[in-house]
Amino acid sequence: MLIKEPIEKFKNFIRAFGATRLLLQKAHESGFLIEGLVLYASLVDGFCRVCLVLKEQIEKHTDAINEKYIYQNEGEANFNERAIYKQAFDRKIIGKELYEELNTLYDIRNKVIHRFFIGEVEYSHLEIVCNRYELVYKELWDITYDLEAKQIDENVGMTIKGSKITETDKAEIHQDIVRKIKSFSERNLAKTLNCTSVEEIIEFASKKELLIECVCGHAKIMHVDFKILDKNKFFNFDDGLTKCLTTGCGCSCYKSSGREKV
Ligand SMILES: [Zn+2]
Ligand SMILES: [Zn+2]
Repeated sequence: MLIKEPIEKFKNFIRAFGATRLLLQKAHESGFLIEGLVLYASLVDGFCRVCLVLKEQIEKHTDAINEKYIYQNEGEANFNERAIYKQAFDRKIIGKELYEELNTLYDIRNKVIHRFFIGEVEYSHLEIVCNRYELVYKELWDITYDLEAKQIDENVGMTIKGSKITETDKAEIHQDIVRKIKSFSERNLAKTLNCTSVEEIIEFASKKELLIECVCGHAKIMHVDFKILDKNKFFNFDDGLTKCLTTGCGCSCYKSSGREKV
């Protein structure tokens, strides 16, 4: 099943599903239990959110996506996990048993994150918890599928019947998912780190990339016009690229040499 013309915020949300699943697989292969636990908790929260969107669309006969479920603006309040589970229960998306299991697992997740030092929780216990999360994940997957099927049946909402997915589609989907893992966007990085200026991001994280040497022999950072970047608030460094600012250098355009400037 496909989604018709998703808005960018929803695309980001959907991308997160794929990325989380991919990371979860890696965590599973390597036996990273804390990472697995955190990812499962995010994933099931994501499923409940998408179910709330689907259900609301069916009830209101609309294909509009209620943004409050899929995006949190900086500095604005949003529903936390428990509030999302509660809404999913109240709207009869999930039953009592699943609702209670979600809360139980979330309690354990919090115990691991916040009380690893000051409680009895052991790393090895998490394997059982991850297995239980996997069952919940499967249940929520079915619930989501049923809601999507209902949308198609009743010809309402954002779901449309998908044609066969080609190899090209698959490659594109995969690329998109990988972007949620690493997009190379400094704008996204700035949001994550709560940075408010270009200088701050450089200070915080991106120094390395800016020290790549240009073919002219000077570092990339010598080719960035920060005034352009500041004006645009968090555009990528590549948007501020300009001629080399080193006195006497005739380089008119940054081109990576692939080497790092030391
Ligand atoms: Zn250059
Ligand atoms: Zn130069």
